[in-house]
Amino acid sequence: MSSTTSLNAPQVKAMLLIVADAVIAAEPYLSEADRNLGDGDHGLGMARGFNAVKEKLEPLDPSEGIGKLFSTAGMAMISSMGGASGAIFGTLFREGGKALSAAESFDSEGLGKMLHSATEGVMARGKAKPGDKTMIDALHPAAAKAVESAGLPISEALAATAEAAEAGRDASKAMIATLGRAKTLGQASIGHPDAGACSIALILRTMSDFAAAPTAA
Ligand code: ADP
Ligand code: MG
Repeated sequence: MSSTTSLNAPQVKAMLLIVADAVIAAEPYLSEADRNLGDGDHGLGMARGFNAVKEKLEPLDPSEGIGKLFSTAGMAMISSMGGASGAIFGTLFREGGKALSAAESFDSEGLGKMLHSATEGVMARGKAKPGDKTMIDALHPAAAKAVESAGLPISEALAATAEAAEAGRDASKAMIATLGRAKTLGQASIGHPDAGACSIALILRTMSDFAAAPTAA
């Protein structure tokens, strides 16, 4: 399989629309994950957010820039999802987009910068640390792997990043929740992965699959 060095703006737009469809299709899986530890609405919230993302992204001219595509997605999530995860997932995309502001193509250096800023933004906003059993447990190791992967073709960097996010999601099973709704479960939170960590792994895996065989101009 040949590797893809970087994605252009129309490809990034196509990728984000595919991510939106994947998250919307995963609604039952994400809600089930939240049912095990929280109130069971994570899939619904994410689906609502990504439907809004599609609405705002579809008319957007990709020549406005890669950062703008990500931050528009973040703003759509913040204004449509509400609740803790609207702010958290919206911040992820908005801060990630800011870090890419002037970029004309999406490469592994951009990926590292984007995920690093997104992680810092989400941690500043939600005060979660690695080990609290939140989406940070998938995002933080993914960002570290992305930073380490700078210089690789984007397809390889995203593959390594998605793998790190999946390992983080799986590692969250053994953690005791210390934040959010699952906190009240204490020891009983052991054994299930965090719902938000499932979303992070899904988003990055879908980005990786796209970069392995990019479509759009
Ligand atoms: P709610 O908790 O309002 O029902 P969701 O069910 O949509 O929202 O999302 C729950 C997910 O949000 C959790 O699985 C966790 O990953 C993430 N989360 C909750 N609080 C925080 C926080 N302070 N920092 C980071 N992520 C968080
Ligand atoms: Mg919930």
